[in-house]
Amino acid sequence: MFDRFNRKLNYLRISVTDRCNLRCTYCMPEQGIRLFRHEDILSFDEIAGFTKTAVSNGVTKVRITGGEPLVRKGITVLVSMISEIKGIEDLSMTTNGTLLKQYAQELRTAGLHRVNISLDTIDREKFRAVTRTGDLNDVFEGINAAKNAGLFPVKINCVIKDSKDEEQARAVTGFCKDNDLEIRYIRQMDLVMGHFSIVDGGIGGDCLLCNRLRLTSNGKLKPCLFSNIEFDIRQLGFEKAIQLAAELKPECGSKNETGTFYNIGG
Ligand code: SF4
Repeated sequence: MFDRFNRKLNYLRISVTDRCNLRCTYCMPEQGIRLFRHEDILSFDEIAGFTKTAVSNGVTKVRITGGEPLVRKGITVLVSMISEIKGIEDLSMTTNGTLLKQYAQELRTAGLHRVNISLDTIDREKFRAVTRTGDLNDVFEGINAAKNAGLFPVKINCVIKDSKDEEQARAVTGFCKDNDLEIRYIRQMDLVMGHFSIVDGGIGGDCLLCNRLRLTSNGKLKPCLFSNIEFDIRQLGFEKAIQLAAELKPECGSKNETGTFYNIGG
């Protein structure tokens, strides 16, 4: 499927939960978050059913995100349901890596191809300060487990303030070189202010080339991260929601005053 600006929309990002086991300072407020009600969260059958419809409309690339997708109970079952859909060429996940040691092999067996793991620093104290709760060791063990399980490539998402020459980013770059990992630098974004930029090492944030649709864990289909436009797939039906999202996808992002990163999945 193509949008009005002749961009091919073949990439679906699915947020499977608004929950996370970390509290990163640039994502989650200290005082915690108001979570979606259980009944508002899409079931596995709804997510797989919607993905099948999206694939029949031209989606070939699917990424599973959160919150933190690995805190969703039964996540490997969902991965296998999605991986069985004919037409998906690339099935990936974005995770904070802290639970990967436990799930990496199961995810690979379930049909996941590759992972992006968030890592902004390799300094233990700084990691603890940024995530408010996390243990850096868990991420290191998660990275090794992903590599050993054959998830490939393993990419590192490194959030930066302004430049990849920042001290922490340089250290992560060195770590990736030493451990044969690809790295992408993501400048901190602000949904409400509409601050975003092109991902260094990826095409995220490049509106001219944007091929994405996003499904939130409570069933809103968003044609653009930096927009308030969204379509309720339960109310409209899968096909109608996809059609409207393709028709009304904005030429470029502006502001998003309704969503948050932990319930859209970045
Ligand atoms: S701001 Fe919107 S149109 Fe631009 S790259 Fe992001 S999702 Fe695509």
